[in-house]
Amino acid sequence: MFWNEKAECMNKDEKEALQLERLKKTVKHAYENIEFYKKRFDEIGLKPEDIKTLKDIEKIPFTTKSDLREAYPLGLLAVPREEIVEVHASSGTTGKPTVTAYTQDDLDIWGECIARGLKMVGAEKEYIIQNAYGYGLFTGGFGIHHGGNKMGAITLPISAGNTKRQLDTMVDFQSDILTCTPSYAAYLGESREKAGIPLEDINLKAGIHGAEMWTGEMRKRIETSLGIKAYNIYGLTEVMGPGVAQECGEQNGMHIQDDHFYPEIIDSDTGETLNYGEKGELVLTSLTKTGMPILRFRTKDLTSLIGEKCECGRTTVRMTRITGRSDDMLKIKGVMVFPSQIEKALLKIKGISPNYMIHVTRPDILDEVEVKVEASKELFSDEMKEMERVEKQIQASIRSETGLRVDVTLCEPDSLPRSEGKAVRVIDERNFE
Ligand code: ZN
Repeated sequence: MFWNEKAECMNKDEKEALQLERLKKTVKHAYENIEFYKKRFDEIGLKPEDIKTLKDIEKIPFTTKSDLREAYPLGLLAVPREEIVEVHASSGTTGKPTVTAYTQDDLDIWGECIARGLKMVGAEKEYIIQNAYGYGLFTGGFGIHHGGNKMGAITLPISAGNTKRQLDTMVDFQSDILTCTPSYAAYLGESREKAGIPLEDINLKAGIHGAEMWTGEMRKRIETSLGIKAYNIYGLTEVMGPGVAQECGEQNGMHIQDDHFYPEIIDSDTGETLNYGEKGELVLTSLTKTGMPILRFRTKDLTSLIGEKCECGRTTVRMTRITGRSDDMLKIKGVMVFPSQIEKALLKIKGISPNYMIHVTRPDILDEVEVKVEASKELFSDEMKEMERVEKQIQASIRSETGLRVDVTLCEPDSLPRSEGKAVRVIDERNFE
């Protein structure tokens, strides 16, 4: 039931003592070996010895994505280069990529975190894990792979894409677990239906999905179309990759592997630390990384923490589903909207596929939003009147969720671009200059 019961079910005092010991060690290691941290600490007169309690972590300045970019590619190593065995990087779509480097110990811990997550969803050693996360510099593919190896399960490194082959593999190998981005899982589910493969022909039990924001409504779609339980996994390149946190069978918050990562929630504007239960930006500090330790990294991901012991027996702190990033919030006609709110609203409506795009423009002085959603085959072949009725329904649903009036267009099935990696849902063409 547990991969590492001792670590996952530790009592509060034991956990905090371990976290403090590891935090002190990490701070000292970073200060002594990384110029960037030494400079940051010296500027404010902070010494590693000043960290005497867990609360003292608040004295440490935040690390941001732009700090990592400035150190591109390998400026933040804390060990000699010969100790590094693997490197990954973010896609760098919005600037220079951020890079992370692992020692063999770091890779073992990555595998350990993923193995804990695989066990959470019921994986056994004889299970086949169809790993449809992309292999490459992206952390998804290799992260799951290291975890599958660690637990001794059968990892099938199929990588993302080639949908027909994914479905054939699912049937032929009777894969037990599917790992990929939620948008790709939804697409595979939809493709299974279209290909007329009955659910009885596949043996999937669980899916582990992350690397992009998704809603509970999307979860329902994936679960129904693939006949599985779909679980949320969280992680980010800057901190390690997937496996920092994951949902257990309760599907009620993701367990943060808090013996390896220390979580805090802050107010994005003031930087002030918030309490458990309060929503804000997640900040993570690595507690065991040796190759590239990271102190108080601002993830920009908005969530809250749950401190109570979970029904599953684990005591690790949980984080709630990410509802957006502090930097992907859209301000439309002065109203703050997260793409997740729109997804939630539209997936409540029957007869549409989980493929959508949000298009924001400002033709004159006012913002305009068009939400394009693919209709199901049945709906699309229906009368125009029925299509219009559903468009109105979607419009009303989005309005009640966000307060915004948007244009809704139902499009032909399969007409919107599909993503095999991270889905691009928002196109913002407003010119802010
Ligand atoms: Zn749990």
